[in-house]
Amino acid sequence: MGSNTPTISIAIIGGGIAGLSLAAGLIKKPHLDIHIYEAVPQHKDVGAGLALHRNAIKAMSLIGPEVYQAYLDKAIDISSEADEEMATQLYFGQGPHAGELVAELGRAKGRKSVSRADLLAGFLELIPKDRITFGKKVSKVCETNENVQFEFTDGTKHSADCLLGADGIHSVIRAYLLGDDHPATDPKNHDGWQVFRTLVSAEEARKKIDEKYTRTVPIFLGPRGHVNCIPMNKGTRLSAGVAVRGIATTNPTGPDTSEDKSSNGAKMDPSLYSDYHPDVKAIVDLVAADTSASWSVGDHDHAPFYAKSRVAMLGDAAHASLPFAGNGAAQALEDAAVLDHLFDLVKQPGRIEDALDAYDAVRRPRSQFVVDLARKFGRVYAYAEGDIHEDPEKLREMFDMASIFTNEVDLRKHLEQAERKFADNVRGRSSRTGAGGGNE
Ligand code: FAD
Repeated sequence: MGSNTPTISIAIIGGGIAGLSLAAGLIKKPHLDIHIYEAVPQHKDVGAGLALHRNAIKAMSLIGPEVYQAYLDKAIDISSEADEEMATQLYFGQGPHAGELVAELGRAKGRKSVSRADLLAGFLELIPKDRITFGKKVSKVCETNENVQFEFTDGTKHSADCLLGADGIHSVIRAYLLGDDHPATDPKNHDGWQVFRTLVSAEEARKKIDEKYTRTVPIFLGPRGHVNCIPMNKGTRLSAGVAVRGIATTNPTGPDTSEDKSSNGAKMDPSLYSDYHPDVKAIVDLVAADTSASWSVGDHDHAPFYAKSRVAMLGDAAHASLPFAGNGAAQALEDAAVLDHLFDLVKQPGRIEDALDAYDAVRRPRSQFVVDLARKFGRVYAYAEGDIHEDPEKLREMFDMASIFTNEVDLRKHLEQAERKFADNVRGRSSRTGAGGGNE
């Protein structure tokens, strides 16, 4: 077989951030034959913006400079000044310290946000059209000794040597791996979070709220909801939101990919915020004027494994998190970087399981920690994590530690760890079977 003939077929289920970024890396490996199956006929722009932290940027660069460039081409400066230093600023919104700065997260020059739809369009440009099929929703998976077989809702079937599930928070692949009845299979909204959001022109916002919140990224903490603002589109539009704990009565309607953003009847009562700082009350009133973009969020309890045999899950399928630590997409990109690296080493189908096991070992602890962190952030924002909100110093320390954990990670070390684990697995398998440890 010539060296340019692919020897391993890989099906990626889901063409979101995880699936497309991974595919952008894998298609460069001549020994792999990649195909992506995406459920929707085309990606819709639902107006969702992502602020990608430094670990997300590092992960994209590791997959390839062109992946990072695709992001840069689509991202826009949050501020109208490309060189302006910006940070997410956490303030007390209510109580004795109302109006006081708690901590700053992710200070950097020229911080960018990117619309999810634009980022997906950028990644798609890196992938040949014949490697992705839209309108293909996987409904069933089964494995044989030979390969992985999967079926779509339209009744058609395919097979591949390896199947990677990047199919989001309500993942079919997660249900296959863990089992429909496993307690961690379905996402949960343990704390009953409902997120209300409005998108208005900056001009309109300036008439109603302090103009500085149309050009900065504040989060105001408080017991009946935290309130935030994100300038968008070079400061011409403003996304403002109120996340309220304990009122959602429905299952999670999913992250920003969800096409169903109905408010499920949840209502915002602005009078509940009368004891919040006056600046915050004004933002609450702005959001309360239009709560049509409102949804119930959720996350995954820890899965006991991310991979079994020749099937694995990544991104939100593996570890959906609440949006409060701003790191869900970043974790999806870290998954993709590790898998991309491992598949450099997998030159025959017999090594797939060793690679997926190494991926699980390296990625599961860190990504599940981020799920826990986002939950904790939500509770801290709502003054519901013990009495830590009463001690600004302790709060600052907590956010600093969290920011170091997510942003300052050495991803190259993770790739090396994955490589070592893969080599151990290969050696272990060889000694069990008595076969040579080679990979060719
Ligand atoms: P998705 O983006 O959900 O993609 C899954 C894809 O799989 C979709 O295209 C879907 O159509 C497809 N699919 C589903 N089922 C099937 C099937 N059966 N067969 C085939 N295809 C299927 N993260 C950050 O890092 N920074 C932020 O600032 C940030 N802000 C956020 C704000 C909000 C309000 C929310 C809700 C989330 C935010 N996130 C943020 C998280 C981020 O959006 C997600 O973590 C990220 O989109 C996950 O990517 P994914 O590819 O795993 O899943």
